[in-house]
Amino acid sequence: MTELKYFAANIVETCVRGFPFPCQTGLLKIGHPDRNSPVFLTCNFHLTVERVKKALQGIDCYLLIANSKGINVWCASTGGHLTNHSVISVIKTSGIEELVDHRQLILPQLAAAGVEARVIRQKTGWRCIWGPVYARDIPAFLNHGLQKTPEMRQVVFPFSQRMEMAVMWAFPLSLAVGLLTLFLWPEAFLPLITLIWLLPLLIFALFPLYAKWLNSGKYRASFSKYTIIFDFGRLPLVLWGIFMVALLTYSLLSRNDSGAFLLHWGFASLVLILLISIDLMGSTPVYKSGLHEDRFLRITLERGKCRGAAFCEQVCPRNCYQVDHRQHKATIPRADYCVQCGACIVQCPFDALFFRSPSGEVLPPEIIRKFKLNLLGKRLVKQA
Ligand code: SF4
Ligand code: SF4
Repeated sequence: MTELKYFAANIVETCVRGFPFPCQTGLLKIGHPDRNSPVFLTCNFHLTVERVKKALQGIDCYLLIANSKGINVWCASTGGHLTNHSVISVIKTSGIEELVDHRQLILPQLAAAGVEARVIRQKTGWRCIWGPVYARDIPAFLNHGLQKTPEMRQVVFPFSQRMEMAVMWAFPLSLAVGLLTLFLWPEAFLPLITLIWLLPLLIFALFPLYAKWLNSGKYRASFSKYTIIFDFGRLPLVLWGIFMVALLTYSLLSRNDSGAFLLHWGFASLVLILLISIDLMGSTPVYKSGLHEDRFLRITLERGKCRGAAFCEQVCPRNCYQVDHRQHKATIPRADYCVQCGACIVQCPFDALFFRSPSGEVLPPEIIRKFKLNLLGKRLVKQA
């Protein structure tokens, strides 16, 4: 893909990245790989594949593209679309086993919530190595002898990524609302579209200013109960109902009996209220979505079972863990930063980790491995 095509694909696919955008699965050769060349794996979300290919330029290697139903690695693995089955299937059908002498597969770290290294090893003989979170760190990761620095393990949410998320929300919303507005109230088209673009851009741009409240144990509970900015709950609809009653009263008192007046302002206010109550922050990698019922689950370590294998440290995208390699024990000093992806629980070979709810209920590893999150954040999707 030329630079121009790559740039155009980035723009177009960022606008529609809220939807699956699949590309062909299978095996790609990058450069001139031989029998000892590294084998990488990624999902079949087209934009991700193009970015990984770009990051691998200059490295002679193989790239396996596994079926994630056209969804990016993070959403596909936590949502049950990038699974053990996807990985085993591409290993078995791509012909990679005839091309290399080793059995070492480098996966993106964010696949660890959905793909179990232990199962892949048992069923295929391939050993999974968790690569860096971002493809741009792959060359450094290779140069470090497949070791990751803490920075390579951690998700960040820089300005460019935040703007991508804002565009991802604003583009389809402005299309849908724009069409409806042209039909119902053409004069309001420009102000409403401007609002639909401005609000997400502002909310994501200002994220660093309020992120500490979102992640702080002190404010999180009240924030989730009362906010209408990031959660879609009943409160926004109640507010809209109150506004409509006020509008109707005003209309009666001022003897403005035009139905168009009520329709126009009712529609515009509904758009506004829906817009500010969408769970925009649910699409950030550093904050647990407000729609998730298990939002306050606490990652918990059963110290007696831990043997210090450090798989948890290798896959945690928030660097919550610290492993004492002499004592062979892990601790979770940054548990407050946990986004409850479940990756550490899925990978721990000794079942030393689990989630605990505020009421003390335990979610054991077998549940976290078996059931993934659906679009509403409920753990219902059965792992393939
Ligand atoms: S919690 Fe599990 S994965 Fe982490 S160090 Fe202990 S045994 Fe290993
Ligand atoms: S500690 Fe939390 S964020 Fe880290 S891997 Fe485990 S569940 Fe995910």
